[in-house]
Amino acid sequence: MPETQLVTAAIFTGLSEMALVQKEVKSPGLGEVLLDVKAEGVCGSDLHYYHISAEAMESHTQPRKHTTTPGHEIAGIVESVGQGVSHLKPGDRVTVQHYSGCGHCLSCRKGWDNHCQNNTVYSLDRDGGYQDKVIVEARDCVFLPSELSFGAGAFLACGASTAYQALHRANIPLGGIVAIIGLGPVGLAALAWAKAFGVRAFGIDPVPERLEFATSLGFESHDSKDFDITCIAPDGVDSVIDTSGNIHGRRTASRIAKVWGTVVLVGFGPGYDIDPVKDVIMRQSTIKGSFVFSMPVMMEAVADAVKLGLDLDPILTVCCVLEDAPAAIADFANGSIGKTTIIWP
Ligand SMILES: [Zn+2]
Ligand SMILES: [Zn+2]
Repeated sequence: MPETQLVTAAIFTGLSEMALVQKEVKSPGLGEVLLDVKAEGVCGSDLHYYHISAEAMESHTQPRKHTTTPGHEIAGIVESVGQGVSHLKPGDRVTVQHYSGCGHCLSCRKGWDNHCQNNTVYSLDRDGGYQDKVIVEARDCVFLPSELSFGAGAFLACGASTAYQALHRANIPLGGIVAIIGLGPVGLAALAWAKAFGVRAFGIDPVPERLEFATSLGFESHDSKDFDITCIAPDGVDSVIDTSGNIHGRRTASRIAKVWGTVVLVGFGPGYDIDPVKDVIMRQSTIKGSFVFSMPVMMEAVADAVKLGLDLDPILTVCCVLEDAPAAIADFANGSIGKTTIIWP
């Protein structure tokens, strides 16, 4: 085993451009694992950095250097393990929690690495998965059962587990209905989970191609432009999850919830324009934020995906090799339908 290996990485060079570069990857150190990356999901949040200049990336709310490899939805095979790693071995299939906490603070001890004050994030503070091989912390790895594809494993490293947590926070009563606002990858994953759990769900989006795609997957979908909740549920729905992060989507979410309903905000984006009296107080509604997921939630999501036969693969519409990632990500930025995933043969 050489001390360092040269691997190919696709990085954001600024203003919607990418480059393929060679990077050195060292052997794993204490508590680390060298992963042979097999799938890397392209998350909507990657685009926040894709579109801006290299300098602007460094002054972003969540800053990153443009030379850091993007990609926080990583799944792969353990190639080698560093000192002190006893629960993983070469050949193990894993997916990676993208927030890497300090491991010692209260949030980390509870599994909430995303709330750790000293965490690092793959793709922001350390190299992510848009490269052939990457060093990850062994404690961030979740065993990926053979029933799940690497693409599904990568999706569960962010988007699909984010949807899973949001559904759990939505207080859907037995026999209840949940509405999903926004039919991007997280919204589609939420519909897939709802179907797996046997919960009635429908999606809302204004883009015809997204509606068509969701319908082709067997999900009930409605155009937000002429949407009338009373045709579906005269009193409104029990629970609504907004994945759009859009001011209009959030307003719709707040207005189609029934009295005592729950609204979960997941999608990032500015603005929340509601009437607090009519939309919240008089409905006695509960509005919650749901920010990605904890490590235990991710482990449960992976286990439930196997147990319930969750099929995420049909959502992965664009699968490309690393060398084609710049073109695929440009398409994704232009609004391609479904999920874009980099796959290694
Ligand atoms: Zn993400
Ligand atoms: Zn911590």
